[in-house]
Amino acid sequence: MPLSKTDFIQYLNCPKSLWLMQKKPNVYPFGGFSEYAKKLAREGYLVEGYVRQLAEAWDNASEFSFQRVFETDDGLYAKVDMVRTRSDGLMDLYEVKSSTSVKDSNPHNQLKDAAFQAIAAKRAGERVGSIFIVHLNKAYVRAGNVNPEELLTFADETARVNALLAETEAEIEDALALLQKNEIDEGSCTCLMLGRAQHCDSFDYFNPTVPKPSIYSLPRIGGAKLQKFVSEDRFDLGEIGLDEVTKLQQPVLRSYKDGQPFVDAADIENFFNVLHYPLYFLDYETYASAIPIVDGLSPQEPLPFQFSLHVLDQNGGLTHHEYLADEAEQPWSLIEALEQAIGPTGSIVVWNKTFENTQNKNMAARFPDKADFLLGIVERTVDLMDVFKTGYVDIAFDGSTSIKRVLPVVLPDLTYEGMEIADGTAAMDGWAKMLAEPDADKRAALRKSLLEYCELDTLAMVRLLEFARGIIVAS
Ligand code: SF4
Repeated sequence: MPLSKTDFIQYLNCPKSLWLMQKKPNVYPFGGFSEYAKKLAREGYLVEGYVRQLAEAWDNASEFSFQRVFETDDGLYAKVDMVRTRSDGLMDLYEVKSSTSVKDSNPHNQLKDAAFQAIAAKRAGERVGSIFIVHLNKAYVRAGNVNPEELLTFADETARVNALLAETEAEIEDALALLQKNEIDEGSCTCLMLGRAQHCDSFDYFNPTVPKPSIYSLPRIGGAKLQKFVSEDRFDLGEIGLDEVTKLQQPVLRSYKDGQPFVDAADIENFFNVLHYPLYFLDYETYASAIPIVDGLSPQEPLPFQFSLHVLDQNGGLTHHEYLADEAEQPWSLIEALEQAIGPTGSIVVWNKTFENTQNKNMAARFPDKADFLLGIVERTVDLMDVFKTGYVDIAFDGSTSIKRVLPVVLPDLTYEGMEIADGTAAMDGWAKMLAEPDADKRAALRKSLLEYCELDTLAMVRLLEFARGIIVAS
């Protein structure tokens, strides 16, 4: 089986994972090609299209060719996005990326990526000249039709890639040698020493004796402490003392040891003490793309296109407001709809305030006329997620504070299951599909799904707050 560039990058990130994928595909946890992955692939083609458009307009256009394949006798397979065959016999290589800078470290080291391509081209008999990484220009702001010349940055990375060639050659040999082996140590893998964010889907295969939940369910576990637990073969939370973990990890461990949720009513009360009515439960959906879809946006800059807002007054009255853009546009109408719905006083309740506040600050920077309103929202924002980080923690959350993880445990009657659109990535994809959908009925169905999903996000917050209030009342 040939070693492709994608395989090689996987090898650099984790040799065992590549081995398992190639040698035991029947047990390798292939994820489906997610909607998000499809979007990235589509965007990659779009960016390549602009590179092609640009190159074909150059005086020396005939020197360029695209998707050039190099296959070598020792098993390398490379497809280079664009090559230039120069009159001096050298070949320049161009790797096209949808990022806004050249990435030079794992998990996707684009310099190594280019080094692999250069080595494959050389082994296939080419004399390689310059090596470019073509990426998006972060400073580009769309104004009318996309201007490929301004959109793209041609970074000459010849020197940095050449400096990596010897090292990359050795790594390629190691990768090829690994793939010759029919057996490796499948009894564990190096991610035992790393927190869960680093684990891939093969973790369970290589570490079948690690229980669930385990020490990896402790939030932000890592470093010397994790290494100590692992070296002492203590993976079970029952073997970990409360005095051995951080304040943030203690609620998770307490819940495990007590066999019931950890509750700190005083902590929850502190949250309620800073609330001012009416309460505005707010959630945004955003769309980011390699090629900005509206004027005024830069590559990969998020565009808020939807919000859901539940308003809870002091007497328990609940009203719902929502907005969903019917076309790709700057969020003027969205902001105006928010201004209509959000009064001058009252707390803004969100889940993970970093995300919502980032959108508000970005919009404030883009629309100075609305800055007072949007930055005022930032000032008034409280994060309901904090309650489920330290005030009420169930081991069934498995160390996560994602609302998608908390909600089914705390309020199993409220569920995202079975929804046409059930997470932020699907919402982003659903909105793009809605805009492109010519059939009115299908478009209306997508619109309905988007509205239902976002509404559930804020209704879930309302209900989770009620749940937290119930704890205080009962205490
Ligand atoms: S979990 Fe194991 S197989 Fe997966 S990346 Fe980490 S070391 Fe590799």
